[in-house]
Amino acid sequence: MKAVVYEGPYDIRVEDVDDPAIEQPTDVIVRITSTCICGSDLHMYEGRTDAQAGLVFGHENQGVVEEVGSGVQRVKKGDRVNMPFNIGCGFCFNCERGWTGFCLSVNPGFAGGAYGYVNMGPYRGGQAEYLRVPYADFNCLELPDDEDHEHDFAMLCDIFPTGYHGAELAEVGMGETVAVFGAGPVGLMSAYACLIKGASVVYVIDQIPDRLKMAEDMGCVPIDFSKGDPADQITDMRKGDGVMKSIDAVGYQAIGSGEDGEEEPNVVLEGCIKVTNPTGKIGIPGLYVPSDPGASDPHASQGMFPISFGKLFEKGLSLGTGQTNVKRYNRFLRDLIVAGRVEPSLVVSKEVPLEEAPEAYERFDNREEGYTKVVLKPAA
Ligand code: NAD
Ligand code: ZN
Repeated sequence: MKAVVYEGPYDIRVEDVDDPAIEQPTDVIVRITSTCICGSDLHMYEGRTDAQAGLVFGHENQGVVEEVGSGVQRVKKGDRVNMPFNIGCGFCFNCERGWTGFCLSVNPGFAGGAYGYVNMGPYRGGQAEYLRVPYADFNCLELPDDEDHEHDFAMLCDIFPTGYHGAELAEVGMGETVAVFGAGPVGLMSAYACLIKGASVVYVIDQIPDRLKMAEDMGCVPIDFSKGDPADQITDMRKGDGVMKSIDAVGYQAIGSGEDGEEEPNVVLEGCIKVTNPTGKIGIPGLYVPSDPGASDPHASQGMFPISFGKLFEKGLSLGTGQTNVKRYNRFLRDLIVAGRVEPSLVVSKEVPLEEAPEAYERFDNREEGYTKVVLKPAA
């Protein structure tokens, strides 16, 4: 089959790889209909992780069940399914309590497994024609049989639940004010989730015009950080007040305020601490890694990020971090889609054949206009 293979920094190719096969009785094989490129893939693409050549990318996967292992009971051949980016076993201490992003079984020695991702276990990604899904009864979310909402559902693998997770980590509630840093897919979905949860005003911070426009169209207040410190802009607008909640949907590759466009790994964390009112909460779905081979800063290279902890303490702020436990949210968000209450595909800006993945990666990585969220379409 054809698959998107990482060869080295800024070098991915569509290559022939072996078809996946049933390895355990609890596996299924899914024929992929939609698989998305994620901002998380870009960390690997840019050589900013320990990813090794040969890795098949792709953790946002949806398709139709093609083959079923003998121990699979619920999922049937022909079912249309969506897979959370996390792989969980369903029976470990963490999965049992709903922390499926930290499964203790699927990636021994580590808490958490995923498809096509560095350090996340031996699982090939789904930017390919077919995907092996372990513990399929646990890891397949059933979708309605028709072909409706294909791109809305595809957002359930990661960014819609991750945006929702950001809002949950910050405990966003009715009538609250929120600052969301980042208007990439995760930031936009975080803002969307805040609106679903009843936030009154949501500020969305970025510097890319078409992404800020999407936030504005959604009903949020766009803040361009290239025009001045975003926390100051928000407090000026609010006549000296900050916000109750903030969400970091950027992560460790945050761009600083300087004209050089250099990275400043702690700049968004600092922005969250600055703009959030005393007793507020900060949700951090944006990724921070324990080791970054491409970091220019010696601390960041070891996953250390200086933050104003004294200010955080003085304000009594709390923060929540980590990979999304997709299964906590995906059924409920699916049902909101089915009911016509939400339309997360509003962030999808491009649909391209799998063969065009190298170009799509390059353009998404450059944050080119029209490349906010790319869905790849394998031909099989
Ligand atoms: P993305 O790279 O498309 O978006 C990031 C956005 O942040 C860009 O639009 C960029 O212009 C903006 N940005 C950069 N510096 C900024 C700053 N200083 N202030 C405000 N905005 C700034 O990526 P994405 O797909 O939206 O993902 C965002 C982050 O979420 C990534 O770190 C990704 O790895 C992470 N992520 C985490 C999880 C999880 O489970 N926690 C899941 C998916 C993605
Ligand atoms: Zn993703």
